[in-house]
Amino acid sequence: MKKKVLTLFLAGILSASMLLPVSAESVSMTPGTYSVTEQGFGGEVTVTVTVDETSIQSVEIVGDGETPELGGVAVDRLDDEILAAQTPNVDGISGASVTSAAIITAATAALEQAGADVASMGSAEDAEDVERTEETLEADIVIVGAGGAGMTAAINATQAGKEVILLEKMPYAGGNTTKATGGMNAAETHYQEEQGIEDSIQQFIDDTMEGGHQINNIDLVTTMAENSAAGIDWLDSIGAPLPKVSFSGGATNARIHAPEDGSGVGEYLVAAFLETVDELGINVMYDTKAEELIVNDGKVEGVKASSKTVDYTINADAVILTTGGFGANEEMYTQYRPDLKGTVTTNAPGATGDGIVMAQAAGADLVDIDQIQLHPTVEQSTSMLITESVRGDGAILVNQSGVRFTDELLTRDKVSAAELEQEGCYAYIIFDQNLRDNLKAIEKYVKNGLTVQADTIEGLAEQLEIDPATLASTLETWNQAVADQNDAEFGRTTGMDHDLSTAPYYAIKIAPGIHHTMGGVKINTSAEVINTDGEVIPGLFAAGEVTGGVHGGNRIGGNAVADIVVFGRIAADSAVAYVDAQ
Ligand code: ADP
Repeated sequence: MKKKVLTLFLAGILSASMLLPVSAESVSMTPGTYSVTEQGFGGEVTVTVTVDETSIQSVEIVGDGETPELGGVAVDRLDDEILAAQTPNVDGISGASVTSAAIITAATAALEQAGADVASMGSAEDAEDVERTEETLEADIVIVGAGGAGMTAAINATQAGKEVILLEKMPYAGGNTTKATGGMNAAETHYQEEQGIEDSIQQFIDDTMEGGHQINNIDLVTTMAENSAAGIDWLDSIGAPLPKVSFSGGATNARIHAPEDGSGVGEYLVAAFLETVDELGINVMYDTKAEELIVNDGKVEGVKASSKTVDYTINADAVILTTGGFGANEEMYTQYRPDLKGTVTTNAPGATGDGIVMAQAAGADLVDIDQIQLHPTVEQSTSMLITESVRGDGAILVNQSGVRFTDELLTRDKVSAAELEQEGCYAYIIFDQNLRDNLKAIEKYVKNGLTVQADTIEGLAEQLEIDPATLASTLETWNQAVADQNDAEFGRTTGMDHDLSTAPYYAIKIAPGIHHTMGGVKINTSAEVINTDGEVIPGLFAAGEVTGGVHGGNRIGGNAVADIVVFGRIAADSAVAYVDAQ
């Protein structure tokens, strides 16, 4: 993250209305500069404050290890906020809670070193007596939600010459897309051809239908599969190639396309999308939440939205909803699935189903709304998802007795169900140093202290309180299965290119977590939203996790990214054609 020092003067200009008038009597500090370092999410975060006797003069935050998409937003913003509010008691950035907490703790400690009585400095909320204003904006197309589908749609619509406003309620873009770790499923791509991988669009359709329990909308699935290779080409064209092709759960052939360097596909794509969004000069309005659709005579003609200080009326010829799912809204998912109460979620905090509610109010039909996917490998204390690629690259799952209990690469619903049948309803994912060396995502798990590590399998077992001989025998049997390419126990056939025999060995304790809401707004193959009478709602389009029908009863790994890229592009094309026809 770039280093930033802001003067009190600058902060005054930025947000004079938010300045908290700290009374000189209540704060007494020793003038000087104070620095404190805390552990953030990706590394250390250092906060340096400069104070005079009664006020904070400047705040500098350095946190080079934080991811630009999340923790970096806290690094970039909390200095302004602490300075403007004249207190470290500011709200953290949701979704970047570890980094925010580290910054607030470090700022508090630095001010205490300066002799401040931080408790008496009040909180940023005390300063919030901001007057609201109203503004009216115009655009050809308003896109709601700057996740993968929203940015894909915004880029395509802008390239087609349309004036776009992209609304994002969080202070950062990316949504659940940032969290996608595996890759993008696509069939008959040039990468597959170059690597001699045989696959077909029909097999992609069949696998998706099979994985989705055959309740998917086959027209949407066909559209996704047929346009997937073009989606890969489009990603090439914006400088976001996905050349590494491998197996993923539920796929017959090697079909999941990932970044060359093994980084998480979501972070990689979000960074590339944001760069393109910037290059094209697209107007992204952060911290601005769409509240309702403007509907006149049955036609959708814009969006009402609000930021902290402004109520917006945004008039547009078309609206594309790309607000994602509702996996972070416990009230909403328990409304459809009471049995999931209390389950941890892997979702970004913005995934609260707003688009579904707004579309419903405009008459939209919903499909498969109770179909909610559990991801089988979620670390429970952090809700961090352990990517399917770990199993795809060769890891196994064992229970507390140290034995395997399933083909680890069955679809997510089946692996989750198998885990829930084990004692304690959890399992351990086991892998070796060779796997770690070839999968960058693992470094994040190690850095965050999620892994248990040992030089021998027996040593690993002891730390997990598993019988060492049993775990050793499980690994021996597995390594033989890899050598024979025959898993006699569970019939696993994929992710068997490498055995687990290179020390040190690793384990992460995992259990299922809410991952993807398959149901949502009903669309047709042109990404037009359909009402409860089966008719198109003019002017309203939707793409990505906000929609239902593509994934049926279970989304297979790699299809979320295929969904956002393919239908994000289609939604843009359809909206552009609609605008042109007005
Ligand atoms: P998808 O994978 O379908 O693109 P994501 O979860 O990646 O979905 O992105 C959805 C984005 O929409 C998130 O960044 C989320 O914060 C944003 N969002 C959700 N509801 C609203 C809303 N009411 N107004 C603006 N943005 C929203």
